[in-house]
Formats: sequence, structure tokens, C-alpha cells
Amino acid sequence: MKLIFLGPPGAGKGTLAGLVSKEIGVPQISTGDIFREAIKRGTELGKKVKEIVGRGDLVPDELTVSLVRERLAEPDAAKGYILDGFPRTIPQAAALEQFQSLDAVVNFTIGDDVVVKRLSGREICKTCGAIYHVTNMPAKVKGVCDACGGPLYTRPDDSIESITNRLEVYKRQTEPLVEFYAARNLLKNIDSSKSPEDTLIQIRKALGYTR
Ligand code: ADP
Repeated sequence: MKLIFLGPPGAGKGTLAGLVSKEIGVPQISTGDIFREAIKRGTELGKKVKEIVGRGDLVPDELTVSLVRERLAEPDAAKGYILDGFPRTIPQAAALEQFQSLDAVVNFTIGDDVVVKRLSGREICKTCGAIYHVTNMPAKVKGVCDACGGPLYTRPDDSIESITNRLEVYKRQTEPLVEFYAARNLLKNIDSSKSPEDTLIQIRKALGYTR
């Protein structure tokens, strides 16, 4: 299955993409993770995007599209994938449809108030990328990943300024994609305001697979 997970920051795209990717056996491809990894390693790409990502603005379309094009050419993406965080603009979506045909776009719907609460308590494992929340989904031992024992950290773009900006950027640049994919009959709306488990059940139903 070739899937896009669409929705505002904090909607649960990353968490659910991880779960669904395991269940259906296709890779999760997160442009945000690719950029963060490049920043961590201090590569050319990382240097180019560090400030943009820190502010919560979007990396230029051309750069992002060529990166995704290369990633989708890898053998593991031939049978399917979940794109998590891409496309984020109409030009990115238009570019993607020139070389890929999709099976569905899962659109996570959720209120701004819930999103802000989630993002302002989010913690991520430095080693394996597992996602926690200080109050909603705390690690068993504070600051330590349940899954791999790695240290937890707060993303620099989860500051309140950057969260507010990311929400504005989402509304202005990414939300128009909902119409774009509805017009192509690909859209599956999913309410992701409850637990990851509840959201996962809805996604299985919408995509028509069972565990
Ligand atoms: P979130 O959905 O929580 O905002 P992501 O991990 O998807 O976070 O993305 C983090 C940052 O990476 C974005 O704020 C943006 O700067 C950059 N980014 C990720 N995907 C894209 C994209 N498709 N186009 C442009 N910039 C992107």
C-alpha cells in the first residue's frame, strides 16, 4: 500500500505511521526524521535546513521533493510506504503525483487546543525515536526510553513559539491538500484526538486490513 499520513503537527502522524508500518510491512518515510537526522550528523543538508526546521518553517519544495524522490527509489519502497510529513504543500503534492500513484491519504483531524497540549509535553528517544508525553504517555522511568533505554529529549521546535508557527504554517500551506486529495477520492478522515489505540482501530477499518 502507498499511503500518505496528513494532518497538523501533534496529530499523531509519526506515532501511527510507526504502528501501521509494522502491521502492513511497508517502510515509514518521515521527512521530519530525515531532516533531524541530517541536522544531528551535521551534513550539508543538515546545515542548510537547521534554522528553517528550528523556526518551524518549511524546507524549500525543490529540496524536499528531490530528497523524497531519491528515497522512494530505494528497493524497500517498491511495494509500498507510508509518507509521514510529506507532501506539505500543493507544489510537493503535484510533483509527487508525477511519479507515484497513491492508494490512500489518511487525514488526521484534531483541534488546535489538543495539539498544543500534546506538543508542549512531547519527549522523543534519541536512540530509537519512540515518542512519549510527560503527562499523557510518560516513560516508566523519567527521561529513559521504555523500548531501548535511550535518553529522552525535547525537540527544539517543540518550543511554544515554534509550535504556534508550525500550526500557522500548516493552515496556510498544508491544509489545502485536504481538498486536493478529496478531489482525487483518496481521502480517509480519521479523528485522532483520543488514544493511539483508538486511532489505530479507525485506520485499520478505513484502509480495510485486519491484524
Ligand atoms: P511536525 O509534524 O510535528 O511539525 P515533522 O517531524 O513532520 O513535524 O517536521 C518537522 C520539520 O521538518 C517541519 O516543521 C519542517 O521544518 C520540516 N519538514 C518536514 N517535512 C517537510 C516537508 N514535506 N516540506 C518542508 N519542510 C518539511
